[in-house]
Amino acid sequence: MNPIYAQMGTTIFEAMSARSRETGAINLGQGFPDGRGCEPVLEAAAKALLERSNQYPPMPGLTELRRAVADHYARHQGLNLTPEEVIVTSGATEALAVSFLALIEPGDEVICLQPLYDAYAPLIERAGGVPLYARLEPPHWDVNREALEALVTPRTRFLLICNPINPAASMVGAATLARIAEFCVAHDLIAICDEVWEHVTYDGARHLPLIGFPGMRDRTVKIGSAGKIFALTGWKVGWMCAAPELARVLAKAHQFLTFSTPPNLQWAVAEGLETQDAWVQETRHRFQRSRDRLAAGLQAAGYVTLPSEATYFLTIDLDASGIAMGDREFSEKLIEAGVASIPVSVFYAENPVTNVVRLCFAKEDAVIDAAIAKMTAFRGTLG
Ligand code: GLN
Repeated sequence: MNPIYAQMGTTIFEAMSARSRETGAINLGQGFPDGRGCEPVLEAAAKALLERSNQYPPMPGLTELRRAVADHYARHQGLNLTPEEVIVTSGATEALAVSFLALIEPGDEVICLQPLYDAYAPLIERAGGVPLYARLEPPHWDVNREALEALVTPRTRFLLICNPINPAASMVGAATLARIAEFCVAHDLIAICDEVWEHVTYDGARHLPLIGFPGMRDRTVKIGSAGKIFALTGWKVGWMCAAPELARVLAKAHQFLTFSTPPNLQWAVAEGLETQDAWVQETRHRFQRSRDRLAAGLQAAGYVTLPSEATYFLTIDLDASGIAMGDREFSEKLIEAGVASIPVSVFYAENPVTNVVRLCFAKEDAVIDAAIAKMTAFRGTLG
């Protein structure tokens, strides 16, 4: 047995969701919206399931979807990708795994920004890579070029960045991205960019893809997800975009990992990307209202929340709230009080921030209100 897996626990997202199912706690832990997702995309998938081929689609993805992704990024982010530079995967997690398997040589170092999604480090290590960690801290979660420089050695080959950042709910701004691009060019690094939250942004903020910065076009893998764009997280339809030389190698890893992704879902996502911009925009506004509803309720109850610029998440600063408890203990007690959350320390591989707890607000008003009521009562018990 490989010790990486033998020694690890079940991912916190599954653990919290399982406990919510068992206990009836309101699940603001794992990040998924309630509701049905984008209805026209669901209908397109149902129709395609019955009316189109359900045999293996082309390994790199349906041409229709690869073209739709390239067009989508041309329209929204000013990128000039060709369909051949897009490879469809079974979710962004597969795209990350494929990137590590295809690109990492044993001993290669990967600079990671903590907090980082819990799948990253085990996947990097299993691929033979060595993660190096730069630590971001609340409340601003700033990425500091000097901290990145301090990590670089002759074995450093990659920078892995999730932007907008889960769980920080922050976005890396243009000036910092420009510095990160210079850093990658200066050290000849490939950037692996998890940009699944690119459309889940608030207050008019616009996501900027690192691949669009000077010197990055041929040294970036840009990863996206239909699950996040259309609020269909169970679909696991994602993609990775990279210049031809990288894309060819990525396809080799993908062909022996999952080979392909269900064709009806691919057709539906292609149609959605072409026709559902208005839905995506409306959904962004709806989530923003939910964010504000949860923030107002929590603040009224005496919790201090940190800014949420993007993602489905709002975080509570326990120290600033005057709650003398670590995040794990808080999350544990809170689920006993009826609300599941995620302690942010799980997103650190070393030297964790332990005073921040993450809540998912992509829920119906009634669910948010019920969670606020429980958390208000819980706050009362903390003194
Ligand atoms: N991305 C989701 C989150 O951060 C979890 C996805 C999963 O559980 N695989 O909550």
